[in-house]
Amino acid sequence: MNHLHDLPRYCPDCGVTLTEEDDLAVEYWQGEQRIYHVWCRTCSWAGDITRVRRMVGHEPAD
Ligand SMILES: [Zn+2]
Repeated sequence: MNHLHDLPRYCPDCGVTLTEEDDLAVEYWQGEQRIYHVWCRTCSWAGDITRVRRMVGHEPAD
């Protein structure tokens, strides 16, 4: 199974393109959620990025 297409492509802080070679993106699971731990070499931002497969939103209130 190839999970690489889910990898974050841009740094959420500085917006630089993340590359597999230079930037850390470690995939792990927490329960049923896939989480990527990303470290941006450019701005040193580090954090976890999760993919939301289905948004559970609130009904718009009238
Ligand atoms: Zn960055």
